Amino acid sequence: MVQQPVRILIVDDDEDDYLILKDMLETISYPVTTTWSYTYNHALELIRSGKFDVIIVDFRLGRKTGLDLMADAARFHSDTPFIFLTGAGNAKIDALALKAGATDYLVKGEMTEEKLDRSIRYAIERSRVIAALRLSETKYRNVFENSKDAIFIADHTGKILQVNSVFEELLGVGINENNPLRITDLVTSEQQKAILDTIIDNCGEIKDLETELLYSGEDIRIALLSISCSTNESGESFFQCFLHDITELKKSERHLFQAEKLAAVGRLVRTLAHEVRNPLNNINMSIDQMEEYLTDDSLYTYVEIVKRNSGYINSLITELLHSLRHTEMNIQKWPVHDIFYLSLAKVKDRLDLKKIQVKVNLPQEDLHVMIDLEKMNSAFLNLLTNAIEAIEHTDGMIWLSSEKSKDGIVLKIQDNGMGIPAESLGRLFEPYYTTKRNGMGLGMVATLNILQSHNATIEVKSEVGKGTTFSILFPWPAEAILN
Ligand code: ADP
Ligand code: MG
Repeated sequence: MVQQPVRILIVDDDEDDYLILKDMLETISYPVTTTWSYTYNHALELIRSGKFDVIIVDFRLGRKTGLDLMADAARFHSDTPFIFLTGAGNAKIDALALKAGATDYLVKGEMTEEKLDRSIRYAIERSRVIAALRLSETKYRNVFENSKDAIFIADHTGKILQVNSVFEELLGVGINENNPLRITDLVTSEQQKAILDTIIDNCGEIKDLETELLYSGEDIRIALLSISCSTNESGESFFQCFLHDITELKKSERHLFQAEKLAAVGRLVRTLAHEVRNPLNNINMSIDQMEEYLTDDSLYTYVEIVKRNSGYINSLITELLHSLRHTEMNIQKWPVHDIFYLSLAKVKDRLDLKKIQVKVNLPQEDLHVMIDLEKMNSAFLNLLTNAIEAIEHTDGMIWLSSEKSKDGIVLKIQDNGMGIPAESLGRLFEPYYTTKRNGMGLGMVATLNILQSHNATIEVKSEVGKGTTFSILFPWPAEAILN
């Protein structure tokens, strides 16, 4: 089995013992080379060199012991196996040595060539197996740790035992004894918690379940959760789980959808406006003509009604076209605070009237964005007006802030108004969606239109009774630039 001579280091402070052992080693069934070391430090140096296949060490080494040597060698990650030499009848020491990681022990005086032969062979075999295991463990650990997905392992009750670093980034929490986490704790939906409980109870599996994660940070994280169940050596089930973060994907899907929807609405409105305006002109012209020939005063009221209503239709179309129009942009570099303060100035009276406090939070360095200031102001005016209108109590607050993020410059406008129910969020940017008695429902669509022509995106977060936050992102690099 062994071709190369086995390199053996003998650590023993008794030369006679060494010589006896050396003689015996020369008679075993495979070639060996022996090196003798009789001082502790010298032995340690030799072990550190990593040039030996097996170390045979006397338990007694002056004031120290072979156990000390093994512990010191472990400190520089030596894998070389240790065989201990002990005196007869020292069962305690033998047990101690094995417990500390020695591969074997040989009792002085009871040693035979055969025992020695077998012990060395066994030590080498075992160290090879351990090295191979360590390699494969390292490989799996690398997959685990370097994965772009969160990977975690849970026991049969669903309690999470082990997580990789992506897990901690994705969820904003790690695991520790004081904070035991179960798989079901990770998702927000009660319905999904129930599904996961069933999987855990039945050693079941699931693939790519789209979940909203219970993330400790501010943002909502969406991920695909996959779980598979396996059984360990003792017959207990455990779960291997993966979370693939699709938050960004979802966000860009949403923005794309928003843009396409707006473009489709724009096309429809322009066509319709054209088609309606022509007959409307005919109606207006005819009614003007009719008015000239009108003799009966009682019919005059009807003419007025027709005129008023066609005027109304006309202004509806004008407003709608206005909210969706694409006009020449006058792009320049402006500091963010100009957007905030110019639009705030326009709503000052309404803020005072409702006694709403405004807090503006700007970073130390001036952030600049490339915008058409007039258009951006009208977008912010819409947002501010909505925030003011959403506040019905007397402790109204509006927060305006700007910050740099990894994606660009983010402007936020937050209010503590009535909030928007989750089921209405999807309709927010639709023309004519309004919940106000005298609302037109064109403010948000106009705002979206302006933001999109700046390549900016808008996100909304809202809680009924608590308030609403709109976040506007001017992405790097072209559309938003730093000072
Ligand atoms: P309008 O203000 O004419 O109703 P908008 O397009 O500006 O039209 O807004 C549409 C709807 O969106 C509003 O009627 C309101 O229900 C909702 N909304 C917009 N912003 C907010 C906000 N900050 N808080 C609560 N609801 C809001
Ligand atoms: Mg509005």
